Order: sequence, then structure tokens, then C-alpha cells
Amino acid sequence: MTTVDASPLAPAIVRRALADAAPVPFWLDSPLAPEPQPPLDGLQTCDLAVVGGGLTGLWTAVLAKESDPGRDVVLLEADRIGRQASGRNGGFCMATLTHGFGNGLRHLPDEVDRLERLGLENLDEIERAVERYEIDCDWRRAGEIDAAVTAWQAADLSESRDLLLAHGRDIEWFDADAMQAEISSPTYHAGLWKKDRCAMIDPARLTWGLARAARRLGVRVHEGTLVETLEPTSAALVLRTPGGALTARRVMLATNAFPALVPAARRRVVPVYDHALMTEPLSDEQWAAVGWRRFQGVADAGNRFHYYRRSADGRILWGGYDALYHYGSAIRPELERHPATFEKLAGHFFQTFPQLEGLRFTHAWAGVIDTCARLFQFWGTAHDRRVAYVLGYTGMGVGETRFGALVGLDLLDGRPTERTSLRLTTTKPIPWPPEPLRAGVIGLTSWSLGRADAGEGRRNLWLRTLDRLGLGFDS
Ligand SMILES: Cc1cc2nc3c(=O)[nH]c(=O)nc-3n(C[C@H](O)[C@H](O)[C@H](O)COP(=O)(O)OP(=O)(O)OC[C@H]3O[C@@H](n4cnc5c(N)ncnc54)[C@H](O)[C@@H]3O)c2cc1C
Repeated sequence: MTTVDASPLAPAIVRRALADAAPVPFWLDSPLAPEPQPPLDGLQTCDLAVVGGGLTGLWTAVLAKESDPGRDVVLLEADRIGRQASGRNGGFCMATLTHGFGNGLRHLPDEVDRLERLGLENLDEIERAVERYEIDCDWRRAGEIDAAVTAWQAADLSESRDLLLAHGRDIEWFDADAMQAEISSPTYHAGLWKKDRCAMIDPARLTWGLARAARRLGVRVHEGTLVETLEPTSAALVLRTPGGALTARRVMLATNAFPALVPAARRRVVPVYDHALMTEPLSDEQWAAVGWRRFQGVADAGNRFHYYRRSADGRILWGGYDALYHYGSAIRPELERHPATFEKLAGHFFQTFPQLEGLRFTHAWAGVIDTCARLFQFWGTAHDRRVAYVLGYTGMGVGETRFGALVGLDLLDGRPTERTSLRLTTTKPIPWPPEPLRAGVIGLTSWSLGRADAGEGRRNLWLRTLDRLGLGFDS
């Protein structure tokens, strides 16, 4: 069996395949992209202001209107709706609320089954909203396969299978031959198909559809509107933007990896760049050589993993592996272009699918995610509970954002619910240390994870210490 490793495969093949790749996210490069909404101009007031027009902000706006149609809601987005992580991700819309079952079990063992149920209900509700608002986002509840590409990953995966079966999950195990029959690659040792807990979607079209639904419900949406400051007064909160100011009774911050308007939120997330490639459409012969008739999302089971999927128009999206942090928590457009990572990813693609040699990539992009030390979302409030925020999705927020928005609204409305009583909701990850320690900790952890993958999964002293403390770093 071939293994997927860090050594680039035949550099000439890789460079040729990437030569014409546009440095833009595939999903956003679409004729269906809507016209921009006008920026905020002058002085306005509202009941609820939502800052950020990704999935968290959009769900907040839609759910706020669904629960109270009389509430006056304004959404302010610095750039364009869905232009950041929400419109440029892999499109795995997952039920997990804890970055996977194993991570949930580690952090919240007493709650994990309840969280699995709530996560599945959340995914079902997203599906219903997609139908209700007639959002054409290529929704396909195909599930996700964890693929073992080494013998030690296969052994780990079989333990996961036993654990998931004991918790009543709907899964199917593929040994090496069955995995080959599902998707043809010389790298596979085994696979675990988690059938009902992931839908594959076009994420940009989900954001555009939710924005349209929000506007139809009466939400005022302003794009090109960076909120520069948030000032509390005794009666309200004032959001200042380059063209005006919005005075609101309540504010939901949905700004993900970008600098939070509440200082306390800043220390618990770091911006990490995740990268992805999209191929040109495969021919019928190429698809026949790959199989993959059931459209599952796939992620390999290493510490530094690849995720990949089919698109509705016959391409393959291939992403992950490098999760890059830049000193000082930097976020800059030029950091989205990292040729060495794209070449590494392309090399791994052809190691996985050698039968596709000659296929070209049309798009190569990166986006920034909000990594926290426990790898799943947390909430907070500020200014006498008149401001709420949810952050920390760590690369698995497509489904979680709706749950994040629900809890955020519970907190702003002062409404005790099953959700607000959870330890998931009432606890937070530990903060990252300041620089230069921050970059050192992240660098050492990334390096150690790479070593563990290369060393049959053996975790060094540093990773074992983090494991004991319940800390992690991931994309
Ligand atoms: C390459 C990549 C692949 C991924 N793949 C997956 C996947 O397959 N499955 C999965 O579950 N997750 C995935 N993720 C993660 C997922 O996309 C995110 O967790 C999710 O989209 C977070 O949504 P959000 O609305 O919180 O953040 P964002 O989409 O980042 O939205 C935040 C918005 O806030 C705006 N903003 C920030 N500051 C201000 C301000 N001061 N004023 C006004 N607006 C502001 C930003 O412009 C931005 O539009 C991936 C992410 C990336 C980058």
C-alpha cells in the first residue's frame, strides 16, 4: 500500500497540475453570487445588531426573526456575506458539537450522548431550514468516511468503531477491500462510514440563501460595513462604522477568527489558515476509475489530516493537512497564498489518486479559522449580558454555527434552556499564552503532531502532557 506523506511527488507533475489554479475560493467564484447590499450610512437604531455575515451571524439573524418576528434586526458585515470561512470551506456540514465524538468524550464525558442528540437535531433543523427557505446548496446527506491510510490509523479506527457502536451510532465498517470498492485508492487500509451525521453542501450558496431568507424576514443587511468600535452606554450599545453608527439594545458578535470587539474573547482563539484545492471536472472514465458513487465526505485519520469530497459538478475538493499560524495572530490577504502548502497538498492528492495523474486544479485558496484549545465552540457575554459572542469552532463550524447562534440568542434574551444549562455552554477553553510563547507552543505542537503521524501514531512527551490537560491544536 502507498502512504500519503510529506514528500512531494514528482514536482513537475504537481506544478503542472497547479499552473492554472486561480487563487480564489471555488464556491465564491460563481455566477450565482448575489449583488452586494449597501453599507450602513448615517445613524440607525435596532433591537438586535449582528456583527459578521458568516454562518454564525446569518443563523443569528434568521433565528432571531423566527422566534420574534417583531424584533428589529440589523446585520453588519465588513466585507461580503459568506466571503470568509463560511463561503470557502470544505462543505462538510456535520452534526458534531464537539469537534468529533472522541474529543467530546474527552472533555464532556457526562454530556456527550446528550450533545450527540442535540447535534443531530441541529443538523435535522438545518436540513428543514434549507427546504423551508428553498436554499439550493446541493444538500446531500451522504455521511462522512474516516479513512485509515496507515496500519496504526486502522487500529485506532477500529477502536473508534467499537466505541461508536456502544453509543448506538449508525456506522458501517469497511476493511481494506470494501474501502477499495467504495473509493479506489492504493492508500486505504480501512474506513469507517458515519452515515447520518454529515451533509455535503455548497457552503457559499448556503450563506447566500440564508442572507436572502433573513432579508425576506425583515432583517436589514449592510455589507462593506466594518464595525470599528462597540461602546456601551447606560441605555444601549453603539456600533461605529466608517459611514455611520448603529445603536442597538442587544449585540451578537459573530466575527470568528477576526479581532473580537470584546477584549476578553480575544485570548481564547488564534487565527489559523486552512488550505484547499479544487480540481477540474473529472471525465466519466476518470470517475469510473475512482468509484465514490455515494458522495460521502472523506477525512483521513491522521493527526494532520486531509479532507476531500465530490462536488455536484463532478470535481474533487482536496484540503487540510497544513494548519498555519502566523506570528502575532496575523490575518492578511497575502497569507492566503502559500505555494509550498498547495504543492504539498497536490502531491498528496496524486499519491491518493494516482489514476488521476494529469488532472488539473482550477482553484487553490486558504481561509482563516478560529482555533481554541478545546477545539469546539464557546460562548461569552459582556456589558451586563447585552453583548454575546460565540467563537472557537476550530474548522468544524458549518453545522455548529446554528447551535452557536441559538445559544447566543438564549443568552441575550436571558432565557434558561436545556442548551444554556450544558457544561458545553457554561465552560470555556483556556486562553492561549501571549507572544512569543504563543507561537512557540503552537509551533511545537504542530511539529509534534507531524512526528506522531510519521512515527506510527506515537505521541511524544509534549503531546501526552497536552492530552492529560485536555489541550489541543487542530484545523
Ligand atoms: C478552508 C476551510 C475549510 C473548512 N472546512 C470546513 C468543513 O468542511 N466543515 C466545517 O464544519 N467547517 C469547516 N471550516 C470551518 C467553518 O467554515 C467555520 O467554522 C464557519 O464558517 C465559521 O462561521 P462564522 O460565521 O463564525 O465565521 P466567518 O465565516 O469567518 O464569518 C465571520 C464574519 O465576520 C466578519 N467580521 C469580522 N469582524 C468584523 C467587524 N469588526 N465588523 C463587521 N464584520 C466583521 C468577517 O468579514 C466575516 O465575514 C473550514 C474553514 C476553512 C477556512
